[in-house]
Amino acid sequence: MIVPGGGLSPDVKWKERGKKFFLPAKVMSRKFRGKFLYYLKQAKLDLNGSQEYLAELSQFDSLLNTLYHKDWYVYCKRPFKTTLSVLEYLGRYTHRVAMSNHRIIDYADGIVSFKWRDYKDGSQEKVMKLPALEFMRRFLLHALPPQFTKIRHYGFLGSAVKANKLRLCSKLLNFLRPEKIVLSTLELIKKLIGIDITVCPSCGHTLSKRALPLTLP
Ligand SMILES: [Zn+2]
Repeated sequence: MIVPGGGLSPDVKWKERGKKFFLPAKVMSRKFRGKFLYYLKQAKLDLNGSQEYLAELSQFDSLLNTLYHKDWYVYCKRPFKTTLSVLEYLGRYTHRVAMSNHRIIDYADGIVSFKWRDYKDGSQEKVMKLPALEFMRRFLLHALPPQFTKIRHYGFLGSAVKANKLRLCSKLLNFLRPEKIVLSTLELIKKLIGIDITVCPSCGHTLSKRALPLTLP
């Protein structure tokens, strides 16, 4: 989650955060614990998917109790470098597919072999083999149902008000909004994987961009 360091006040002024954090980490931790456990309690009624983890449902209440008595920590820190690096960091999670192609190493006789990391066993890399259908089932668990969105915006970034409010914010902050940068497919691929696919990896010959069968989406 990214929270801006300020916002619009009701009398339409830009309100800057103070010298300290926008929200005290301790308050946020408690709030987070409260909300999380509240919804966990609600989910108790619908636990079919998780019963293997909670072998006995009767243990659920004592688990909840333990969790209420623990101090929770919300990891909250200033942006490491610039705002842009924060966005890039988050973008790696929000705009990536559940499994990258290079982890899939083989497909034979209806069985998919892929690399995975076993965090319970010293983060070792292992190979798992699954029937293709089971592999697809698990992969598709990561695909959101129709009308679900992965990214939500609130406040002055809410889609209903964004156009006007962002303009207002940049006016109040005396900030020129940058031009939208539109990359071509080739530029985007180069930026994402760091490889110029118009250059042959073996002889270094550059392919004419017109010869590439790429169409812009
Ligand atoms: Zn070549």
